[in-house]
Amino acid sequence: MRLVTKTRQTVRRSLSDTQRTAILAFENEKATPQQTAMTKGIMRDVHDGGLWLQCDCRKEGMRRPLVTVVKNPGNFLSWKIWTKGNRLAHAQTCAFHRRHVRQQLAKEAWSKARKTRPEGFFAVLKSQSKGAKPHRDSGGSRVTGERTRLPALARQLAVLIEAAKLNVWWPDGETESRYDQFHRLEEAAEGYEVAQAVSLAPLLFTKVSAWEKFAVHAKVRAATAGFPKGHRPQGFICFCTSNVDSDGTYLRHGRDATEDKEAVPPLRADCAGTVTWPSIGRNAVPGPYLFFGVVGLSQKKRGYELLKAYAQPVVGWDRLVPVDSHYERRAFGSLKITVGRLMRQYPQFTWLLHKPVFETITKLGPCLPDFEIIGYQGGKANHRFIVEVMDFDRPSYLAGKEITHPRMELLGPLFTMDGQKFDDDLSGEGKRVSEAILSHLRQAV
Ligand SMILES: [Zn+2]
Repeated sequence: MRLVTKTRQTVRRSLSDTQRTAILAFENEKATPQQTAMTKGIMRDVHDGGLWLQCDCRKEGMRRPLVTVVKNPGNFLSWKIWTKGNRLAHAQTCAFHRRHVRQQLAKEAWSKARKTRPEGFFAVLKSQSKGAKPHRDSGGSRVTGERTRLPALARQLAVLIEAAKLNVWWPDGETESRYDQFHRLEEAAEGYEVAQAVSLAPLLFTKVSAWEKFAVHAKVRAATAGFPKGHRPQGFICFCTSNVDSDGTYLRHGRDATEDKEAVPPLRADCAGTVTWPSIGRNAVPGPYLFFGVVGLSQKKRGYELLKAYAQPVVGWDRLVPVDSHYERRAFGSLKITVGRLMRQYPQFTWLLHKPVFETITKLGPCLPDFEIIGYQGGKANHRFIVEVMDFDRPSYLAGKEITHPRMELLGPLFTMDGQKFDDDLSGEGKRVSEAILSHLRQAV
């Protein structure tokens, strides 16, 4: 591989075997931290020097496949493969060819909104007409370009979270207890129906004691008579839990008897069907979670039971803000401090931190920012800052960001935080982003 000038393709320097191996390992997502750093250094050289990288996967006379580097709106560099004109294409086996395919897949994956608000009744168990195939939830199945379609349960939970404003944080809300937040969830349920004239509110259970005493099962069974024909009776549980497994979750860990305390038996919510939760690569996003499940009559008519469940990671036991990763959990802690600073320096606005749960459609297409900081004045959003928590080392993840960041920029100034360089305080990237937002405001206000 060689670095060449764009105009005449004069060779500036040849890359060593070590550098070549590093570039290919990075593209294949198998790079060591040193190889990642080396690749990023070469990318910077190509970008800053206005050069091309000449690939060695094919050769036709003087022609070689080329790659250049572009800077994305999210402030990260990525390889750009030119395929137009009479450029020589990379070999099918070349990592850059695969990158090209990945970019096409990401483009396709983000052409349509996938995380949209579900319509109709607040129900996930569909009625089955005779001869119809059993309804299958898409689960957390992988879609192209790292896009996953949310399971039906996850989408319905997001509806409730949004209606209860659990995904919004403002400084005055900091004192709110978990109990208060569950109460908001229950209040939000009053606005939804599981079926015609069947309110969700009495069929949403947020107290573990109701599960322990089988009150959930009994109440769903009792509500069956009120369901119109063609609708499957169903109720929902929503509890905070720290761990999940494929069979359910522990709602309480047991305790052996001691001299002065009685034994406490463990309490579980066991699920007859699938339990899903988000993962990044192969790693499950750690808890705590909001464990959201549907209770109904199983097809085998064994009685009312928990039929499937979804575990939504949240910031913490006392802060039921949904997050997509542990990075986001830490980012939330840092951004909270930033919102506090904004509140003190620009008290003419009402500041809040928002975690969007559904995609926004822009004129370029759908996007879903990680966080938004919004400043309201007179009921109008005067300032909106988009914050993305980034994993800069994964090309397949970045392929999607290359497409969605220009869309996010239509919503407001975009700031990215390197997931590996901050904590849940105002250090590192957290401070940098905080300062950048404040400096932006100084110019705007
Ligand atoms: Zn190549």
